[in-house]
Amino acid sequence: MRVIVVGAGVAGLVTAVQLAERGASVDVVDRGAYLGAASCSWFAGGMLAPWCEAESAEPAVTHLGQMALDWWPAHIAGTVALGTLVVAPPRDTAELSRFSKRTTDFEWLDQDAVARLEPDLDGRFRKALFFPQEAHLDPRRALVALAARLEQMGVRISFDRDVSIPDLDADRIVDCRGFAAAADLPDLRGVKGEMVVIRTHEIKLHRPIRMLHPRIPLYIVPRQDGLFMIGATSIESADRSRITARSMIELLSAAYALHPAFGEAEVVEIGTDVRPAFPDNLPAIRRDGKIVRLNGLYRHGFLLSPAFARMAADAVFEETDGADRVER
Ligand SMILES: Cc1cc2nc3c(=O)[nH]c(=O)nc-3n(C[C@H](O)[C@H](O)[C@H](O)COP(=O)(O)OP(=O)(O)OC[C@H]3O[C@@H](n4cnc5c(N)ncnc54)[C@H](O)[C@@H]3O)c2cc1C
Repeated sequence: MRVIVVGAGVAGLVTAVQLAERGASVDVVDRGAYLGAASCSWFAGGMLAPWCEAESAEPAVTHLGQMALDWWPAHIAGTVALGTLVVAPPRDTAELSRFSKRTTDFEWLDQDAVARLEPDLDGRFRKALFFPQEAHLDPRRALVALAARLEQMGVRISFDRDVSIPDLDADRIVDCRGFAAAADLPDLRGVKGEMVVIRTHEIKLHRPIRMLHPRIPLYIVPRQDGLFMIGATSIESADRSRITARSMIELLSAAYALHPAFGEAEVVEIGTDVRPAFPDNLPAIRRDGKIVRLNGLYRHGFLLSPAFARMAADAVFEETDGADRVER
């Protein structure tokens, strides 16, 4: 089985790994000049938070997302399994109760328990929710590690290749072009996400912190070398051009509300991109002859790609067996 995977974002790379593990001969092509150059996945927070996501997502996200907690550590180094902490500014503590009613698998923490988990937040929050089974990773390191793993498995990744899918010659084509596939998927829409990366050595966090807010809930994810990713807005727009002043203010205010030390942090990067989403905000696998399309990963590219790549690989192999099943 010769398969070409189009797109070296998280969907394409995770699918390529699973196809190669199942014995396919795989090539990956991407139109970017290098890994991450043109992919939404480069801007993700990297939270693997199936239970927190239940606050606003379908139950399938919690159910299928749990596969990510095993898949990522089994395939790359650097997944940090220290849970997620959810806090709210003192005037918005009602948001914590609301969040708790929509989610499961958490513990209520008091101020001392918060300080035991995150000593630098000592005295800042009287109550918090802790989701101990969740994890996070650095998406950029994860993509680089997946690419290296693919290389070891004999899979070639070619960059600078803006391909036309009907022109490709292989037994199967897996279309993982993200929002660039919108012309072939009329119900795919773009949801703009904006993020900021800051650096400070004045504060240390061990896990993602979600900061609840009635309008704009945000999160801060610690990375190596004093870096913190602050994300992410969610705006119904396919304009990936630049961050708005309002979003920048909201993102930096969330960090400052978490700890004033962030006020002195250096702004290292501002990023925007467009998440691909279907109307129900769930990913889908669609098959069209020898083409299998995996798209619509929305806010859950790292969380859901292990489960949906498996379904995409099933679709690739099932067609050979004559079966005609397309799964969500
Ligand atoms: C700010 C932000 C924060 C996020 N945080 C999280 C998070 O914490 N956890 C999480 O799970 N998800 C998160 N997401 C969502 C996640 O990033 C997306 O769901 C995911 O990146 C979608 O991956 P993809 O592989 O489908 O698309 P992409 O990453 O966009 O990859 C598509 C690839 O296809 C290539 N391509 C397109 N057209 C062609 C062509 N014609 N020929 C060749 N190559 C082509 C592109 O170059 C690109 O590399 C976040 C997103 C944003 C924007």
